[in-house]
Amino acid sequence: MNPTCRGCGHALKHKAKYCARCGTPAADARVCPSCGIANDAGDNFCYACGEALVGGSPPPAPRRDSARVRWLAAGILLGAVLSGAGALGWWLLDR
Ligand SMILES: [Zn+2]
Ligand SMILES: [Zn+2]
Repeated sequence: MNPTCRGCGHALKHKAKYCARCGTPAADARVCPSCGIANDAGDNFCYACGEALVGGSPPPAPRRDSARVRWLAAGILLGAVLSGAGALGWWLLDR
């Protein structure tokens, strides 16, 4: 038995994501919150734009990588400050 449209009651075709008569997404379809495309019920991400779909688990956040990048940026900043201070000190002593 085929599901029927929530909007107009029209019998949906097998695996249909939209009603062919009124365009309402099928009840088991996952409508993308970003672009409005209807994806399959088991899909976690929009096939059109990659947006995480409602009910899907978000991708794991790369916390360790971002922390490493932060430390790297802090190290670069510290190095820049130290070399700048060294250059300033050398410049002051040279006068
Ligand atoms: Zn319909
Ligand atoms: Zn989308």
